[in-house]
Amino acid sequence: MESEIGTLYIVATPIGNLEDITLRALRTLKEVDYVLCEDTRTTQNLLNKYDIKTKTMSYHAHSTENKENVIINLLKSGKDLALVSDAGTPTISDPGVMLVANVKKEFGTDVKVVPIPGPSALITALSASGISSAEFIFLGFLPHKKGRETLFKEISKSKRVIVFYESTHRIMKTLSSLIEHAPTFKIVIGRELTKQFEEFVEGTPEQVLTYFTVNDDKHRGEFVVIVEPK
Ligand code: SAM
Repeated sequence: MESEIGTLYIVATPIGNLEDITLRALRTLKEVDYVLCEDTRTTQNLLNKYDIKTKTMSYHAHSTENKENVIINLLKSGKDLALVSDAGTPTISDPGVMLVANVKKEFGTDVKVVPIPGPSALITALSASGISSAEFIFLGFLPHKKGRETLFKEISKSKRVIVFYESTHRIMKTLSSLIEHAPTFKIVIGRELTKQFEEFVEGTPEQVLTYFTVNDDKHRGEFVVIVEPK
């Protein structure tokens, strides 16, 4: 008799504080046959903390079609798999979208792809920003070069709250672009959320840039930028 197709769980993991993980996520990570990780070392820290002994396997942005075939064959042979990323919800500005799409393409409605919800940096930032999230646009990471200028022009005309991810390397450049294109807008930045040096910085783009210029050590880390049209 053919074995039943395994289940692919999409498991959200902490964005900093390792206590931010659900009971269901922990049980799933414990019960599956393999955990597919963006970086096995990062996920191993989490698994060690909760004494989870499940085998890990890497799956990341540069994984080949061959790796996806290995994963599809594991599901075919009835293995249950959990996909995790380094932080937050997999597939949200993170690897895994193609895997989920290809698994669904391969098995159609015969496969169960089960989300195990938990942290995501954008929702974490919005929740404590004091900015209405009834309606917002999420841009993920902004383009580095092509289309960047056009996007800032679009942001300047937006009537909706806009949220995006930013890195240490580009935060100051992005604030400068906001000063140029949207000087009156309100900015809230969530930095190092759930970590030791978590902070929220708010003001006009110029005020926020000044804050990070004066506090030179504070434009390092991970950032969620929330832009409210004013
Ligand atoms: N999938 C993740 C999620 O659900 O939030 C996002 C992954 S994306 C590759 C990483 C970006 O998310 C970082 O560059 C930063 O902009 C944001 N981010 C992740 N963790 C964060 C944290 N603890 N504080 C602030 N921003 C964070």
